[in-house]
Amino acid sequence: MASAVATAPSVLEIDLGRLVSNYRLLCARLGGVPCAGVVKADGYGLGAVPVAEALAGAGCTTFFVAHASEAISLRAALPAPEIYILNGILPGEEDTLVAGGVAPVLSTLEQIETWARAARRLGSPLPAAIHFDTGMSRLGLTPGESARLIAERHRLDGIRLRYVLSHLACADEPEHPLNAQQLARFRAIRAQFPEARASFANSSGIFLGPDYHFDLGRPGAALHGINPLPGHPNPLAQVVHLQARILQTREIDSAQTVGYGASYRAPGPRRIATVALGYADGYPRALSSKGSAYCGDRVVPIVGRVSMDLITLDVSAVPNAHVGQMVEFLGDHRPLDVVAEEADTIGYELLTQLGKRFHRIYRGAAG
Ligand SMILES: *Cc1c(COP(=O)(O)O)cnc(C)c1O
Repeated sequence: MASAVATAPSVLEIDLGRLVSNYRLLCARLGGVPCAGVVKADGYGLGAVPVAEALAGAGCTTFFVAHASEAISLRAALPAPEIYILNGILPGEEDTLVAGGVAPVLSTLEQIETWARAARRLGSPLPAAIHFDTGMSRLGLTPGESARLIAERHRLDGIRLRYVLSHLACADEPEHPLNAQQLARFRAIRAQFPEARASFANSSGIFLGPDYHFDLGRPGAALHGINPLPGHPNPLAQVVHLQARILQTREIDSAQTVGYGASYRAPGPRRIATVALGYADGYPRALSSKGSAYCGDRVVPIVGRVSMDLITLDVSAVPNAHVGQMVEFLGDHRPLDVVAEEADTIGYELLTQLGKRFHRIYRGAAG
């Protein structure tokens, strides 16, 4: 084990202790309202099973994923918690979901009919949540479908309705008028289903205040260290630490260019380090001659293009940079959201793009 780490070209450390402290911070913000964990896209790229196990250890009893297959593999690792599939159900998936003991978030009248029919066929009620669209126009019952469901209650016969939920479009912009509009629409809908609990707030939504909390918080991003408050200091801890190793160093002068397309020309003598990380690892090519890394105790610039497996850094300011040394690309010195912004993207995309080629280390949740 130790020797594998000692020679790994790149290492992704996932700090489950910090993930759990992020969960506790969100629980505190929710002030006693329970907090679920959204672990779709393989736990935002960090590993749904280890992430969910750590959260379950901290008291989380409800999880959301996007796909049925994600729900089934999470169930194999975690027998106890409730697991919901945000993308709903497709006809023909009923038996898989029933056998897996996982529940769909129903998003159309057809999906409600599919699930209710399966319950009648089995002769026992089946759990579900229902997603109501309050302004996102993506998933969820439209206002017309919602009105029909409210008028035709029998459509729910056989369904044990656990949650009504909706999703905010602009929760990361607290001043956006759509937040209050969605809140008013959601309040009106949840009043029609007093038998169910209500869930509304994603990570950023939790920070909009208690009006948005209802009966269950539904954060994903913030658990994984993504800043829910763009433009403000991140109240959550960085969960990922991505490092890659220097393979070679060289001295160049102003006659020379670096990398594909000869896009970078040294303004004078420079020391270049070539590092074992590239866009095939999910590191954005958009950071060519734009991003930076933390080497020794300095932030050093990426020079030239990010290629498939390699990045070139100007380490002139770090005289002792040497072959075998690890350089930080994401972590406390290179926060996820800062790097994402430099790459013209968001922390969500950067995290979920991280490749499968890293040596992965999970730091324990216990400590
Ligand atoms: C992804 C998702 C969440 C979690 O959102 P974050 O912004 O990652 O906290 C919550 N609810 C729904 C419906 C989602 O699709």
